This record gives sequence, C-alpha cells and structure tokens, in this order.
Amino acid sequence: MSSRVLTSVIGGEAVRGGDERPDLNPSDISDVVAVAQVGDADVARSAVAAAAEAFGAWSATTPWERSSVLDRAGTEVMARADELGDLLAREEGKTYPEARGEVVRAGQILKYFAGTALQPHGLALDSVRPGIEVTVTREPVGVVSVITPWNFPIAIPAWKIAPALAFGNTVVFKPAELVPASAWELVDILNRAGLPPGVLNLVLGRGSVVGPILTTSPEVDAVTFTGSVDTGRGILRESAATGAKVQLELGGKNPLVVTDHADLATAVECAMQGGFGSTGQRCTASSVLVVTEGVHDRFVDALTERMSAWTVGDARTAGVDMGPVVDSSQLAQDEDYLGIARGQGAQVIGGDRVECETDGHYLAPALAVGTSVGDRINVEEVFGPVMSVIKVADYAEAIEAANSSTMNLSSGICTTDLAEASHFRRHSKAGMVMVNLPTAGVDFHVPFGGRGESSHGPREQGTAAVEFFTTSKTSYVAPGRP
Ligand code: ADP
Repeated sequence: MSSRVLTSVIGGEAVRGGDERPDLNPSDISDVVAVAQVGDADVARSAVAAAAEAFGAWSATTPWERSSVLDRAGTEVMARADELGDLLAREEGKTYPEARGEVVRAGQILKYFAGTALQPHGLALDSVRPGIEVTVTREPVGVVSVITPWNFPIAIPAWKIAPALAFGNTVVFKPAELVPASAWELVDILNRAGLPPGVLNLVLGRGSVVGPILTTSPEVDAVTFTGSVDTGRGILRESAATGAKVQLELGGKNPLVVTDHADLATAVECAMQGGFGSTGQRCTASSVLVVTEGVHDRFVDALTERMSAWTVGDARTAGVDMGPVVDSSQLAQDEDYLGIARGQGAQVIGGDRVECETDGHYLAPALAVGTSVGDRINVEEVFGPVMSVIKVADYAEAIEAANSSTMNLSSGICTTDLAEASHFRRHSKAGMVMVNLPTAGVDFHVPFGGRGESSHGPREQGTAAVEFFTTSKTSYVAPGRP
C-alpha cells in the first residue's frame, strides 16, 4: 500500500523536508498509513511567526466571516465522516463506529462554535457612579498554541481550534506524533473552508523538540494542552517565563461506584463502555470500580462474562468490540500495570495478548479484582483496557474510596437509590459526575474538565470556552451632556 506524505503547513504552504516518521496502523503494523515529514525547532518558530503576523487581520474579521468558515468546515467534516472515520480507526485503532462517531463529533463542535461566533459575549451596564456607562467586552487573546494527544485525533483538536478561531485568535497546532493524518485533514478542511494563510498553522514534530518553542515563544499568548500530567506540569513551569495563559487537561483516575441498589445490567454496561470503550484510552475512562459487598460477587461475575464475549480485533473489521492498544510502548505500560497489580495481591481476569490475523497491539480487556485504595493500579493512570475493583462495605466507604483519587476528571455511580445518587452528585470531587452512565461520553455544549491534578485553567468546550479563548476588557464611558 503506498503511503501519503504529510507535512507541516505554515502560512497556508506545505513545509517539505525533515526526518520522515511512519504513521503505523496499530491493528496491522505492516500498514503504513502515511509518512510524516517531521518539523524541527525552526519550523515551529516559523509557524509562531506566521500566526503572529496573521493575527491583526483575522482578529478584525466580522463574526460572520469566522462563523462561515467554521460552518463550512463542519459541513465537510460531517459529509466525509465515513472516510475520515476509516482513516482515524486505521491510524489510532479505535473501532470504526467509535472513530466515525468522533469525526461526527468534530463536525458538531465546528458547527457549535460557528454559532458561538455570532452570540453576544459582552455586558453593558450602568456604573455605580452616576452618569457613567460600563461595558465588558471580550477580545481575542492572540496567538494560541494547541498541543494535543493521540487518543482523540480529531475531536480534541476541533474543540480547541474551533473556539480559538471563533473568537478571533490565530493558532499553531501540534498534534501527537502518532496521529498526524487526522490532524492534517482537519487543518486542510479548515484552510480550504476559507481561513486566510497563517491563521491556522500545523506543526508536525516531536514534542520535546517543537513543543518548547510553542510554549515559550514571547509571541505566544496562550497554550491549550491535553496530555500527560508530567508534560502539562512542565508546560506550566516553562510558560511562567512569558506569562502566557495556560489551559491544561491532564490525566484522569475515574471511579465508577456500584452500590447494592444498582441495576446490575446497567452497572455492567456502564463499566464495559466506560472502561473498555476506545480500548480504555480515554482520560475519562472508568478505571476503578468501587463496589459494595452485597453486589460485589454478582457484579464481578456478570462483568467477567460480558468481557469474555467481547471481540478484540482489527479496528476496521465489522463486529469488533475493541480495537488494539495504540502502540507497543502503551501495550508494555498496560502489561506492566497488570504485573504491578498482581504484585500487590490482585487477581487479574483477562488481560492476555490476543492473536489476530494481522500483527497488531492486541490486548484482551483486563479486570484486577481484590485491590485496595492506595494500590498503584488505583492511583496511577494506566490508559488502557484495564479496570480494577475495590470491594467496600457500604456507600459511605464507597464515596470515600472514590474521592481518594487525585486526578478528579470524571466519576460515576450506578444506583437506583435517589439519596445515594444525590449525595454522590454533590460530594464527588470530580469535575464531571455521571449517574447510571459511563464516566466517559460527554456533550460538546457544556463545560469539560476536572479538579485536582486533572485540569488547570478555565474549562473547555461549550459556553465555558469564552473564558480561555478571550480576554475581558472593562470600559467606563462618561458620555457627558448632550
Ligand atoms: P501522551 O501520553 O498523551 O502522549 P504527552 O504529554 O506525552 O501525553 O503528549 C501530549 C502532547 O504533548 C503530544 O502532542 C506531545 O508531542 C506533546 N509534548 C510532549 N512533550 C512536550 C513538551 N516538552 N512541550 C510541549 N509539548 C510536548
């Protein structure tokens, strides 16, 4: 199969040259999806300069112009959902229905922010002093660096780039090394939808090489990042030198509580979808199941049965429930954590490598039973199809265990007891709480983000996006007498 060559795109032009990195299909590593020409620090600097130069004119466009570009791009993304979904499944390894769903989501996000561009975002009010009028207006921040992970190759870039553009900012976008093709398509679609050159620039490159340019250049006014806690913390430290605004979405260690009052079928389904959907490679994945003792054994048995019926295989084969792990190092990390859990006394159900027709990174869903609060598997983010179970006496112990996480992105409870559900919703430490739903699976028109080590800065998505992607100006006017 011949491979496409992908390049960085700066000022509307392809930047050819540089080291070549193969973009491999995790379902079949002999399949080279594309070859990325990797940019260096100079490419990153040129991208920042192009975005800085384009800012004046783009920030002066009308909301209608910005809205129209996003709307056209959203229409194209949705029209090409089959093809882009296939590309995403091939490049990242989530199943085709999941990948297609993500592409549609990206289209919806573009359309949502096309609408946002036309909405009122300011305030006009009378001063507390007589004869003075006050307005609070929202202005673009400037040049925004967008740095994204591999697990949602089109949706996460869309939910950062679309609001940045809607509010009149210019963008330097660096996708994760593992997923350049989906990123390239999104940029191509937005550029052809009518963005002037330099408004959206794509930098394909290694995080350690191009990342620091994107986070520490004085021309960069804001950095929005989704990725690991360590990299995010580093960005926060580095950007202190320039005072750039920083928004971080980092890890999640998300508990799903199952109480004696749960509907068993609902609880099993929430755990399956929340824990193993997208091969468990979601920051909102349910990774710790906190189960009260009255239902524990029945729940574990039912979940084990459901796990054994799941088909693991090529992400683009119909009927496959779960695609491969994204690459060999992530697979090694998943297996390491299963070993660590065993070492701390857990019994691991599943979690074996799966042989398929093609050479891919296949791992069966895994459940570590008999774990305790504080075990490493319950503290650190695994980022794979791995869940652990903590048995607790009652709801009071359950919420305490659920709140022991320090990466409080999402949490969930399965119960039919209204008092438990209400108490959990109010007292969970997480930024997003689900009742009788998987911890993963969120809407695009409401805020997304966590607490603790999970997030930093204003929330993403929905109406919350205005906080990060604009800066507020308060003006006082004394109109004087006619
Ligand atoms: P993940 O485990 O999701 O790959 P990372 O934090 O390693 O998490 O990567 C997320 C994104 O951050 C990727 O696009 C990666 O290239 C980028 N990145 C890695 N190192 C740096 C850095 N020092 N500065 C900025 N971005 C970086």
